[in-house]
Amino acid sequence: MEAGGRAARLVFKAMGRHPNNGAPRRRSARNLQQSRRAAQVAWLLVALIVQKFGGTAVGDPDRIRAVADHVARTKRHGDDVVLVVSAMGNETDDLLRLASEVSATHPGREMDMLITAGERKSMALMCMALHDLDVPADSFTGSQAGFLTDATHGNARILEVRPDRVRATVDAGRVAVVGGSQGVSTENDVTFLGRGGSDTTAVALAHALGAAVCELYTDVTGVFTTDPRLVPTARRMASVSFEELLEMTASGCPKPSMRSVEYARTHGVRLHVRSAFTWQEGTWVDEEEPNMEQAIVSAVTHDTSEAKMTIAGVPDRTGVAATVFRALADLDVNVDLIVQNVSDRGVTDISFTVPKGDLDRTMEETRKLVAEIGAAGVDADAAIARVSIVGAGMRSNPGVAATMFETLAGTGVNIQMISTSAIRVSCVVAEGQVEEAVTALHKAFGLADA
Ligand code: ADP
Ligand code: ASP
Ligand code: MG
Repeated sequence: MEAGGRAARLVFKAMGRHPNNGAPRRRSARNLQQSRRAAQVAWLLVALIVQKFGGTAVGDPDRIRAVADHVARTKRHGDDVVLVVSAMGNETDDLLRLASEVSATHPGREMDMLITAGERKSMALMCMALHDLDVPADSFTGSQAGFLTDATHGNARILEVRPDRVRATVDAGRVAVVGGSQGVSTENDVTFLGRGGSDTTAVALAHALGAAVCELYTDVTGVFTTDPRLVPTARRMASVSFEELLEMTASGCPKPSMRSVEYARTHGVRLHVRSAFTWQEGTWVDEEEPNMEQAIVSAVTHDTSEAKMTIAGVPDRTGVAATVFRALADLDVNVDLIVQNVSDRGVTDISFTVPKGDLDRTMEETRKLVAEIGAAGVDADAAIARVSIVGAGMRSNPGVAATMFETLAGTGVNIQMISTSAIRVSCVVAEGQVEEAVTALHKAFGLADA
């Protein structure tokens, strides 16, 4: 691993059973187990594992004690552990609500100070639970753990991770417990990395420390072929490539956060998404094996967080699209899925999607743009959803899109917009039909549990 880290170190210890359910770990981790067997006499290869626990996994005192127990067993076996914790349960949402109840103004600096308090609570409580089990542990805020970020409050980007204190803690035989989704800015203020940012904290730490694996513990047993809350026949994927998982997270799969998957792929951090309730083997995320038989469609995703906008009667003139989308970019609106029709008698329609939360201000700006460019008008529909199929095997198999459209037609679902990438096809449909659309596609592509 890069970053001068160390995936494992040799220490003199008695052998014990590994608590991680003896799950066969692949590649470096498997090599590690083989080395362990070879060195059974007295020397033990100690792996450094970063374990991240989501909000539900640390949601109440019992859950915190259960996590502490799991960490204690990992430690007893001899592995070094760095923990990353989210805020307990729905605490982040509660803090956001509290802010709205107190004031209509939400300065970024104060919001970040407020929100990061959630993770600070769970990390301190986690250390107390570990102390009860005679596991020495110290908690660290993002700043103390060396997360230097830019000053974009609410959605700060990591500039550098200098985990000196975390490493010293681990080297002293202690467990480091790090508050997720936070850092300190170049202006020396506390920053929040955004919703789902704890996954990114864990991956960045795993990279900076050269950990053998980054385990993301959540409330489902791994990454599924579709949202298991929506479709009961969804199956856990034993493994998934970074490429496919990135497309899944970009099209609505909430787990792991998209930024963390990007970070892991860029820096080659192996991920294991697994359950904090059953502790069973989860989903491994890795580079694609070159000879792997690729499924044509690996997963079906959906996203109800966007709204559709259509500008009608747009004059077919050079520079019109540039004017519209530059103005929206300057508003910091994340525009996606843009479709422009062939022009008919010098005018055309342009449709695109924007996050629902940005719809009002985007409409306001677009109304001005309609007047400026001489278009006929603009309308919006917030009751839409995007359903997508993702699969690396799509590249070499024709007819996948046709099967998707036939399946939706057979279910009586009208397609409003279509977009594709090399390994994804997305359709915008009515929000009220998302469940039937996803269920039908999941079945049609043979993903459903028998
Ligand atoms: P955490 O709080 O542990 O960080 P989240 O609550 O953000 O995790 O995400 C986990 C949830 O994501 C699960 O409860 C599951 O219902 C949902 N989910 C949606 N699509 C999928 C999928 N394809 N695979 C796994 N989980 C999914
Ligand atoms: N607690 C924060 C959130 O829910 C950060 C995280 O857990 O990833 O978004
Ligand atoms: Mg959750």
